[in-house]
Amino acid sequence: MSECASRPCDLDEFVRRLPKTETHLHLEGALPYRLLQQLDPVRFAQPPPSWAPEYCFGSFTEFDNLIIGLLSPWFTSAGRYHAAAAEVFRGLAAQNVRYVETSFHLPIVQFIGDRGDAIVQAIQDAAPAGMTVRVFAGLVRDCHTGPIPAVIADALRWKWLAGFDLHGHETLPLEDWTAEVWRRARDAGKETKAHAGEFGAAANVRAVVERLGVRRVQHGVRAIEDPEVVALLVREGVTLDITPISNVKLGVVPSLREHPLRALLAAGVRCTVSTDDPLIFGNTLTDEYCGLATEAGFTGAELVQVARNGFLAGTMAETTRAAALAELAALEQEGY
Ligand SMILES: [Zn+2]
Repeated sequence: MSECASRPCDLDEFVRRLPKTETHLHLEGALPYRLLQQLDPVRFAQPPPSWAPEYCFGSFTEFDNLIIGLLSPWFTSAGRYHAAAAEVFRGLAAQNVRYVETSFHLPIVQFIGDRGDAIVQAIQDAAPAGMTVRVFAGLVRDCHTGPIPAVIADALRWKWLAGFDLHGHETLPLEDWTAEVWRRARDAGKETKAHAGEFGAAANVRAVVERLGVRRVQHGVRAIEDPEVVALLVREGVTLDITPISNVKLGVVPSLREHPLRALLAAGVRCTVSTDDPLIFGNTLTDEYCGLATEAGFTGAELVQVARNGFLAGTMAETTRAAALAELAALEQEGY
């Protein structure tokens, strides 16, 4: 049976040929399930029920509990990060992904023996030839206690660390330490991102743009609820790294058909498409693009635009960017 039996083969082939980026990917949340099955074949005999296409989480707490139970047995050392990253990147390379931004949970350094810079290096070293990988340290909204401030100060000097991302429940406020850390990070030459506008309202998107100074927002989909926030994103050249299947399964939007991605693109907001936590959602980047086409009616030109945005938003060698943009321009003419 052909791999694309469930969707048009010409669409599958078109998506496969698109040079793509993955710019919203939690390394822990991307752990290949096969590695867990190798670790404990009995406990992990079956993938989680959330892999079912129609699955919808009842709450973010349910998601949190599931992911912690799956991650904690595996992520015990920098070596384990390397093994996971190597398999994740191989899977992405097979989908013609050329550029990856991935974050890891920096507070994990409190629980494992390896230092954070060793984890960054372990992930970076797993990048295959032909793929640019940039590693971000994920901080948590309410986790600036114990050793974490010192770890952050140290991280500003980690050579291979591309930047910082803000994770954590959006119901938690943006604490005062955050803006200063984000400013110091940029002063140190690091990039800054933040999760907002997923479970939190458009005001949260405004807050990370205005108070943290980020120009990359992970999710940001609920910006659509406030035209002034949409205008702010356009004016400031903010990119939203959107994860459509995650949004549907977590109940952020009712369906791919009703996803605000197209409206945000039409308003002039630069949006990319990524998978977020494929360990939990059972999704691939190919599923995201094909889902947008089959369920939300995205045309070939719209899929190209989404892919193009990733190469415009990312930080990569100009030759890498130019080669991808040229291929995308040619594919846009072909369509599917
Ligand atoms: Zn995320």
